Amino acid sequence: MKAVRFHEHGGPEVLRYENAPDPTPKPTEVRLRVKAVALNHLDVWLRKGLPGLKVPLPKIGGCDIAGEVAALGSACTRVKIGERIMVSPGWSCGQCAACLQGEDNFCRAYQIIGGYSLDGGCAELVCVPEVNCITIPERLDYPSAAAVPLIFLTAWNMLVRRAHLKDGEDVLVMGAGSGVGTAAIQIAKLFRSRVIAVAGTDDKLAKAAGLGADAGINYATQDLAQEVRRLTGKRGVDVVFEHVGGTTWEKLIPTLAPGGRLVTCGATAGYESKVDIRYFFSKSLAVLGAFMGCKADLLEVVRHMAEGRLRPVVDRTLPLSECARAHRLIEDRAVFGKIVLLPE
Ligand SMILES: [Zn+2]
Repeated sequence: MKAVRFHEHGGPEVLRYENAPDPTPKPTEVRLRVKAVALNHLDVWLRKGLPGLKVPLPKIGGCDIAGEVAALGSACTRVKIGERIMVSPGWSCGQCAACLQGEDNFCRAYQIIGGYSLDGGCAELVCVPEVNCITIPERLDYPSAAAVPLIFLTAWNMLVRRAHLKDGEDVLVMGAGSGVGTAAIQIAKLFRSRVIAVAGTDDKLAKAAGLGADAGINYATQDLAQEVRRLTGKRGVDVVFEHVGGTTWEKLIPTLAPGGRLVTCGATAGYESKVDIRYFFSKSLAVLGAFMGCKADLLEVVRHMAEGRLRPVVDRTLPLSECARAHRLIEDRAVFGKIVLLPE
């Protein structure tokens, strides 16, 4: 098969579109003919390499996979040859206390398909466990289906499960043009929230408004804290949806209303920030972390997708052979929503 692999860590130039061995399904796995694969920041980090994390090389990335079932392992019973499948990206043991409580993302064996150790979908073929196969709703084509799992799972976990978003609350969505931001805007609107989108260009803010955002703040030209105060009548927001990190936290913590929650799933702009601890006790604030989400939540997301209440946002599709270009676009933040690769 053709695949995009890297044999060493480095810039986008290490990504090679080349021949790779066809994967063979284990008894509990299915082999998919990949029709679309969406990229995430995780793909960029894996390619660059992270200190202390050893990635087996050569590596095939791509955690958001949609494809057609091409072959079944001998123990598969549920999915059928030819079925349209989107892949739940989280793999867990299925037998520990965390898994049995539905908190599969807390499983000590938890892995992401296309993550550090398991090969992903930047290829013509991929083998995934049958338990990770979700039937694609009729409403979605393959590129749209590939644009769903990671970001909607994460955003749902952050807002619904971690921050306990309540009807009508005010939500500030950082990085509103990113994949996870586009998911957060829509999920918050399901809960009839007032959404204030934050992005670095007016074009992204206009597109965020198209997804339902009620107001926008351009952090490049406007003062974030001042704008939040103005838009909320000095009250502040109930939830800050965060994945940018770095020094923005110094500005964000004071924008929270009493009882407010900041929930984060990433730190693309930096790992360290200074915060004034007094805000936490004087305003009863909470900071919540989130990593991926449980599979049951992804199934709930897919139900909303099937009914058209949530929709994936695909910025553009590119041929799989242009994977390196797609990585550059993500690193340049030149994408609104998801970038999806299509095997030829
Ligand atoms: Zn487990």
